[in-house]
Amino acid sequence: MQNTTNHADLAEVFNNDEARVDWHDETLWWIRSKRDVAVNKINNWEELRETASQIKHNVLSNLSNYLQQFESNALSNGIIVHWAADAKEHNQIVLSILRKHSIGQMVKSKSMLTEECHLNDFLEENGINVIDSDLGERIVQLAKEMPSHIVLPCIHKKKEEIGELFHQHLGTPAGNADPQFLTETARQHLRDTFLTRRAALTGVNFAIAETGEFVVCTNEGNADMGAHLADVHIASMGIEKIIPERKHLGVFLRLLTRSATGQPITTYSSHFKRPNKGKEMHIIIVDNGRSIQLGREAFRNSLKCIRCGACMNTCPVYRRSGGHSYHNAISGPIGSILAPNLDMEKYADLPFASTLCGSCTNVCPVKIDIHQQLYKWRQVIVKNGYVPAAKTASMKIMDWTLSSPTAYHTAGKAGRMVLKYAPFMVNNKLNPWYKHRDMPEPPKESFGEWYKKNRK
Ligand code: SF4
Repeated sequence: MQNTTNHADLAEVFNNDEARVDWHDETLWWIRSKRDVAVNKINNWEELRETASQIKHNVLSNLSNYLQQFESNALSNGIIVHWAADAKEHNQIVLSILRKHSIGQMVKSKSMLTEECHLNDFLEENGINVIDSDLGERIVQLAKEMPSHIVLPCIHKKKEEIGELFHQHLGTPAGNADPQFLTETARQHLRDTFLTRRAALTGVNFAIAETGEFVVCTNEGNADMGAHLADVHIASMGIEKIIPERKHLGVFLRLLTRSATGQPITTYSSHFKRPNKGKEMHIIIVDNGRSIQLGREAFRNSLKCIRCGACMNTCPVYRRSGGHSYHNAISGPIGSILAPNLDMEKYADLPFASTLCGSCTNVCPVKIDIHQQLYKWRQVIVKNGYVPAAKTASMKIMDWTLSSPTAYHTAGKAGRMVLKYAPFMVNNKLNPWYKHRDMPEPPKESFGEWYKKNRK
């Protein structure tokens, strides 16, 4: 990947492969269409969305109470509860659990929180071997890449590229890119991993305050396989994953997979309540900037997210720029409103990577006002001085021009003259707009001039 952390530059790298851009776009749109079909089969979809949004509103308004209730119930169930203020603390806790048991190898199912904390790199640096058991995650792990999508981590990869990776790392015949064969190979390879690892880490989709249990949703059953076979199960959850009561699962489970892939239900929705006899179960409750976001009134709703990925599948910018262009563990529209909270300067570009069309807000199952938050982040970022100086200057000039009818008409005339007599001043490689577009023919006159002449 190019050494830059700017969405537009990274998107340009992705856009160099037009064929890849086209199928990435089409595949994600196909998933979005499947979501629409699944949603339209439920006649109370909007009611479900509103209910989920209100439940999460209640959770965010009483978060500390629900977290303490969850902790107390989890402790009485025999789960060991840890609290981590940030990514560093989370990673240290995982390492200390593994060291306590002299474990050097761990299997891990999909957890975007551990991606956010860069857990794999940290454990590898400390001599722990980690194998991701979700197929998509395993593929990006072998490729030494970040997931490009929260539900479909390797959606940016062609099957031929996956065949080549498996050939290099798992010894499959060169040139074999048959998905069925590659999946079976991964299954055999992971089966051995499951049988030999003494520790397993999973994410958490929902943590239930009322019972102290947590629920993990997967389509591959890999979280269950890892957790059931290992002696030590570690689950990592963000503080916002709480739901008050078990009955609320009925709302969220119906929304989650329909929004994510268009399936009526996730294949495995596994409940973990207490460790089996002789085994240990740990849960690490992680803040890592979430309390700060909770305190930002305009952005706190972003913590309602249930990580379904629907906003990515529908986003015209995400579909044609690829997840890696967001240079953050969580990409797409939701990543663009979460990331500036973590580091406003580093992620100042992300809220601008949007057309503000509002499609993300329309599909979000928990009714997060995503595009409005993108717009609000732009204002915060500008106020804090994190936009390039050239952009600030050009916006000032634009402000002045649009505020004065004389300046506006003069600029319009000058623009038409330049387009007609010196088009090279606009149609050149320094103009990013021109790189991917044909400039229009200059009109003979402005609308204002035409209107004056033709007004009856
Ligand atoms: S913001 Fe909404 S649509 Fe996007 S991943 Fe989260 S829950 Fe899904």
